Amino acid sequence: MKGIYDKVVDLATRRGFFWPSSRDIYAGAPAGFYVYGPLGLRMKEKIVSLWRRKIIIPEGVHEIETPNVLPLKVFEASGHLEHFFDKLVECRRCHSRFRVDKLIEEELGITENLEGLSDDSLLKLIYDNEIKCPKCGALNWTDIKKFNLMFTISVGAETDEPNAALRPETTQGSVVEFRKSFMVMRGKLPFALAQIGRVFRNEISPRRALIRMREFQQLEVHIFFDPEDPDEVYEDRLEPLLDYKLRFLRREDRETGKIVEMTAREGLETGYTINKLITYWLVIYQKFFNEALGFPLERLRYRELIEGEKAHYALAHWDLEIYTDDLGWVELVNNAYRTDYDLSGHMKVSGNDLSVQSNDGTRKVLPHLYEPSIGLDRVIFHELMVAYREDGERTWLQLPRYLAPVEVGVFPLLRRDGLPERAREIYNELIEKGFIAFYDESGSIGRRYRRMDEIGTPVCVTVDHQTLEDNTVTMRDRDTMKQIRVPITRLPEKISRFLNSNVPIEELID
Ligand SMILES: [Zn+2]
Repeated sequence: MKGIYDKVVDLATRRGFFWPSSRDIYAGAPAGFYVYGPLGLRMKEKIVSLWRRKIIIPEGVHEIETPNVLPLKVFEASGHLEHFFDKLVECRRCHSRFRVDKLIEEELGITENLEGLSDDSLLKLIYDNEIKCPKCGALNWTDIKKFNLMFTISVGAETDEPNAALRPETTQGSVVEFRKSFMVMRGKLPFALAQIGRVFRNEISPRRALIRMREFQQLEVHIFFDPEDPDEVYEDRLEPLLDYKLRFLRREDRETGKIVEMTAREGLETGYTINKLITYWLVIYQKFFNEALGFPLERLRYRELIEGEKAHYALAHWDLEIYTDDLGWVELVNNAYRTDYDLSGHMKVSGNDLSVQSNDGTRKVLPHLYEPSIGLDRVIFHELMVAYREDGERTWLQLPRYLAPVEVGVFPLLRRDGLPERAREIYNELIEKGFIAFYDESGSIGRRYRRMDEIGTPVCVTVDHQTLEDNTVTMRDRDTMKQIRVPITRLPEKISRFLNSNVPIEELID
């Protein structure tokens, strides 16, 4: 029996959420690049706009856009040239290459702590367990090699040597432009920038659809703050949220997998969440994923990373992860306290002073950086995984209503008696009012409902014979299939209320 993962991939491809790039006509096209079809793209736009509305604007974050291509110097300063690699081994017989950690993980089921092991210990683990080449079955490996994950390129006609790279994260653009942005915006610390952008990583084995890609999209916030005064402004913002419960998998609970619920207050008092600024951002991101994106709390946790797993720049590091039966725990947001690692790296390599004045004007400050970084494609994929429902009769996506790519289906019950004309009028009116509506008159009404259910359309409006008599239509709820009758004049208001709430459709009757 197919798991939900396979069903979601199948549905996504069939209905136009996403599919692998170029593969339809070029069989050997490299993996890890995806096309967003019309439905997937619309969902993506909705998630981005939700993030802007719920986080960027209320938090006073300045959104900027920096190029995908940056000079290699930038990645020398950021440490990516030196540290951003995966370990691989090559089979001496068939020359297939594998990521060491994935090879061991797949054969032995070990997922933890591999990143902390030395090359020799990893190779020993491979030979002790007789892990053979998955391609040809040989047990004859090369030494472990480093493979840098950046796509380097040569820009301009002057050289064929790489002098730039496609960025592997949006962070560096923000760090390089921090001082300039701070000046032009007449900033004060803490000063937060945001970027939405594509990033590129030459993964050795891209896989699992939108989970591990070579080109993907990040939503990042970069909060630069004065390390001597990190709690400026966050005092007030955190106050009403002090009893909010964060869910952590702490390093000491790795073995048991026990998730600890810790209020923001406890996080602060024990020092676990470091300061008010970081605590506040941990809270609002968990809230955003739970309340706005609709992921149940019991599927979410912050996994504390340990030495060896943590990025080279991070002092503290938690992955906000989501659980599904098919994929287990998957990271959605990388939350890293990067200290002044990035700014001081760029100061050193560029020779420019990147510090700014403290808010009281008495000190020079090289700000510290805290960064929550969302992997957008993974979020979209998990929205579909978590929303997927089937009951033998039908398949539906129980998406948060406001994230559905089509908001309302409009149908005439039959293709005669003037019903299509009336339905068209209603469709046009809804479009004009800003709803994303879809008109359909082909096939039986049951099949039209099913097609809308399958892409998660929250509500369908049907024009029938009674409509012609009393100007009412039916509204049908995707999740319960219940229907109510409403006057056409009230339709936009009812749909809008329905889309922006969780109320059952019966509550719209008045
Ligand atoms: Zn081989």
